[in-house]
Amino acid sequence: MNLGKLNEKCPECGCKDKTLKRRLDAEHHAFGTTQSLTCSKCGYVFKSPEDEKKEKDEN
Ligand SMILES: [Zn+2]
Repeated sequence: MNLGKLNEKCPECGCKDKTLKRRLDAEHHAFGTTQSLTCSKCGYVFKSPEDEKKEKDEN
């Protein structure tokens, strides 16, 4: 996980507080849980580098 994301401002509300959640990925459950970073204030979901990598692998 790119720690630089933790210092990014939320594009929706500009808040820098974030919540790191573990989420169970039903489609890729074989890989276990993935982490998701959400804005503590408005709930905006920051796209993780892992998600981007996955999409490239599938295409
Ligand atoms: Zn926000």
